Amino acid sequence: MNKVYTKNIQMVIQKLRPELQALSEYIYDHPELGHKEFLSSKAHVDLLEKHGFEVEYPYLGIETAFRAVYKGEKEGPAIAYLSEFDALPGIGHGCGHNLLGTTDTGAGIALSKLVDEIGGTVVVLGTPAEETNGDKVTMAAADTFDDIDVAFCTHPSDGYYASGTSMAMEAVEFRFYGKTSHAAAAPFEGINALDACLNTFNNINALRQQLRPSARVHGVIKEGGEAANIIPDYTRAEFYVRAMDMPYLNELREKVIQCAEAGAMAAGCKMEWGHYEASYQNLITNETLSNQFNQNMKELGIEMQVEERDSMGSMDMGNVSQVVPAINPYFEITSGKFVSAHTVEFRDCTKTEAAYDGMEKTIAAFTQTAIDLITNEPLLQAVKEEFKQTMLKQG
Ligand SMILES: [Zn+2]
Ligand SMILES: [Zn+2]
Repeated sequence: MNKVYTKNIQMVIQKLRPELQALSEYIYDHPELGHKEFLSSKAHVDLLEKHGFEVEYPYLGIETAFRAVYKGEKEGPAIAYLSEFDALPGIGHGCGHNLLGTTDTGAGIALSKLVDEIGGTVVVLGTPAEETNGDKVTMAAADTFDDIDVAFCTHPSDGYYASGTSMAMEAVEFRFYGKTSHAAAAPFEGINALDACLNTFNNINALRQQLRPSARVHGVIKEGGEAANIIPDYTRAEFYVRAMDMPYLNELREKVIQCAEAGAMAAGCKMEWGHYEASYQNLITNETLSNQFNQNMKELGIEMQVEERDSMGSMDMGNVSQVVPAINPYFEITSGKFVSAHTVEFRDCTKTEAAYDGMEKTIAAFTQTAIDLITNEPLLQAVKEEFKQTMLKQG
């Protein structure tokens, strides 16, 4: 590790820390749901512009998305940091995206102070709606990452965990069409769309026994009929289908659709299916990049835990990791205690000194890792080669 840069980085970050804390706490105080993050995205954009970034906002026609670029005076690789800022209904920033976004934007600003000297380009992407209809999916499908060499995202947590995997996920809805009739006087005239829906749940429950242990299928009935004395002519259910990789997810989705087809057929209904939210691919960690980051954290006194985590969710960073080498490590904000995300307790941890220390260390290691990539050509090539090989293997 280049000790001179380490010292520079820490000075740069210490100077930034009050502005970053203010950004995180402003967003904490103004929690906004996905695609409604008007104040939060603007607060990021204002800070990035203040530090000399050129910002496209809105970006890709998405009102609360942005792309902020700082080009160094010398040519070099382009490094992206991805900032989230959406909240949860009812509990505000229970997932800690106020601090998440601040950490990634902070890393971008810190790196921008060094690229005039070492070369390279810094890109900070504001990525809305991670909790629902994540726009990293939109960006990964567009040309956003065509000119980017590596991408970083992080997440606050109850420990320091090395970048791992997340589940591939598809948001599938089923719509069942039947025929109304009087449920008491003429039930035999009706075609019961609620039966089709309930059959589907039962079929999926039977399918469960044959699933790989890591797979998940979970659903709710969103529209289940109007009144108990009318045979429902329309029902709609939403499911999440999750698997550890794309091939098994594709297989599982087909089986779940069969469950709905059979359920509809038994009730004499017509069935249609579609997606009600964006689908997330599984996260592929670039191990070369991850090792470099972990090494830099170690120099800051943090041992990143490599855990076989068998309970996990899905994230839109998965899609990014399938188009560009990427990592998504976790940093601790809970002072050594277990606190589950998506709770009020976790939300309140984002305002503690421990959380800001985790933020500062992650920014330092994100920045140093970017410097390593910019100044060490063989390292960048090794990262890219691993990405190429992994994608070839996946097919
Ligand atoms: Zn969350
Ligand atoms: Zn989250």
